[in-house]
Amino acid sequence: MSAPRLLLATRNAKKLVELRRILEPVMEIELVGLDDVPAYDEVPEDGATFADNALLKAREGARHTGLPTIADDSGIAVDALNGMPGIYSARWAGRHGDDEANLRLLLGQLADVPAERRGGAFVCAAALVTPDGAEHVVEGHMPGTVVDAPRGSGGFGYDPIFVPVGERRTTAEMPAAEKDAISHRGQAFRALAPVVARTLGGAG
Ligand code: IMP
Repeated sequence: MSAPRLLLATRNAKKLVELRRILEPVMEIELVGLDDVPAYDEVPEDGATFADNALLKAREGARHTGLPTIADDSGIAVDALNGMPGIYSARWAGRHGDDEANLRLLLGQLADVPAERRGGAFVCAAALVTPDGAEHVVEGHMPGTVVDAPRGSGGFGYDPIFVPVGERRTTAEMPAAEKDAISHRGQAFRALAPVVARTLGGAG
């Protein structure tokens, strides 16, 4: 029997590689991304929570492709900003995906906030939706602190200004595998892996 196909509703090649690495030991699967399926109109991410947005994207993928679909939604939640940027992390400075502007705006907003009150977390919700309507959502959190100046060239987004609990390095200074091992997305994908295996009839 050929391996079941699973869509990860993303165009981000790094997310595909990360999820493939996590699912491989759990089950045989053919993981595809949005660039591998016929294009469809993507829904606006207008949910109120990370889980809402992940579910919206996964439902949309399953509906349009007929494939079981995983989608994730993530961001940084800063305590001193009552959990913002949160679900607005990717467009905090007004334009979707302008990492540098988003990071600068956040640093400016925290300029007068002392080190002991700069806590927060990266959060990721990952959802699995099957074409017959089964839905699962899990969340991962990586707590840490927002530092006052960017350090490191790895990662993306807010990585250069975030130091996880128990670390001295920003996540932009950590090798990708080390970040994956503790990251919000790594946790969420790892929690979803056995659910995928069970739902798609794998060994998991
Ligand atoms: P998305 O869930 O891939 O759309 O990511 C939402 C936004 O949250 C990104 O554009 C980044 O600004 C931020 N973000 C999510 N995960 C990370 C991470 O691991 N490092 C840095 N920024 C992140």
